Amino acid sequence: MKDYFPEKTTRRKFLGNTARLCFNIGLSSIFLSCFKTEDSATETATAVEKSANTGSGFEPAYLELHKTGELKKRAEKLWAIMEKCRLCPRKCGVNRLEGKRGFCRAPGSTLVVSSSHPHFGEERPLVGKGGSGTIFLTHCNLRCVFCQNWEISQLGRGVEKNISELAGMMLHLQEIGCHNINFVTPTHYSPHILKAIDTAAETGLRLPIVYNTSGWERLEILRLLDGIVDIYLPDFKYWDSDMSAKYSSNAESYPEMAREAILEMHRQVGVAKPAKDGIMQRGLMIRHLVMPNNTGGSEEIMEWIAENLPKDTYVNIMAQYSPVYKAYDYPKIARRITREEYKRVVKKAKEMGLTNLDVQGYWWLQK
Ligand code: SF4
Repeated sequence: MKDYFPEKTTRRKFLGNTARLCFNIGLSSIFLSCFKTEDSATETATAVEKSANTGSGFEPAYLELHKTGELKKRAEKLWAIMEKCRLCPRKCGVNRLEGKRGFCRAPGSTLVVSSSHPHFGEERPLVGKGGSGTIFLTHCNLRCVFCQNWEISQLGRGVEKNISELAGMMLHLQEIGCHNINFVTPTHYSPHILKAIDTAAETGLRLPIVYNTSGWERLEILRLLDGIVDIYLPDFKYWDSDMSAKYSSNAESYPEMAREAILEMHRQVGVAKPAKDGIMQRGLMIRHLVMPNNTGGSEEIMEWIAENLPKDTYVNIMAQYSPVYKAYDYPKIARRITREEYKRVVKKAKEMGLTNLDVQGYWWLQK
């Protein structure tokens, strides 16, 4: 306990230490509930600019577009798309602006946020000392049967917020020392996010924007994010469309669309390289969750990345698959992965020449 709370401490250190302690002992909800998320952009505008924890000389991509008014225009274009919603590959065509809800169940003129806090469990270059300023958005267009956040993504657990409140959350995360704003499952709320960035930029937001997505994205939408998102953090979940259809609510097009989306993301932001202090400010960071019985087609995915992107592309090979939610209804994915399954994927990635791998500890996996 003594290590977490040294005698002389600043507010930022105190928050960071408290968060680490809560997450380590499994009491994250206590920590999260202490954070105010109600602030409007105007209420938190004071002194946030000087506290941006981004290292020297960093300027986020969106500032220029904010200054020229282009960011506002892009936000309006995305907003109009909600009239016959085709923000994601489901292309439901419902009028969200009139209150209709499509497959994702997301509302239109407002959005639903599950939580907003410094996250210390994301990739190390996003976390640093101040944490990744994570905003968990409610609802999802993919709805995987093994979703670990199913209460948020599928049951809709969260609180309805407006654009000003979302901007306020971003400024608050900057004020308390986070290194970035990390939008988790942003696809169905991209119009709200752009509007909020525009509002927050006006009142001092300077942190890089992380677009933390399933990877199932439409090119038309991604092109509207060009010059706004600093870090793309897509999953590459499946190689085989039968698997994506089976485990992610008939999303047959997932593999093909994820490949196209990842190439577009790379075109926009390039290879992810951390700054001198180790913090990531720009680039593409791919996540791949290794699933039991090679359900995701992990080796093919490593091969494709090596053959279509630079060899130093950041790839996080994730070992933490756990059969939750409806996974026990599907025998092939109703267990954790084995140590051998994980090692095989890492070996393949190395054989293919990938050099920037985030390989997690896997001592706890069964042999
Ligand atoms: S974002 Fe939601 S409503 Fe819009 S197309 Fe996708 S699933 Fe349908």
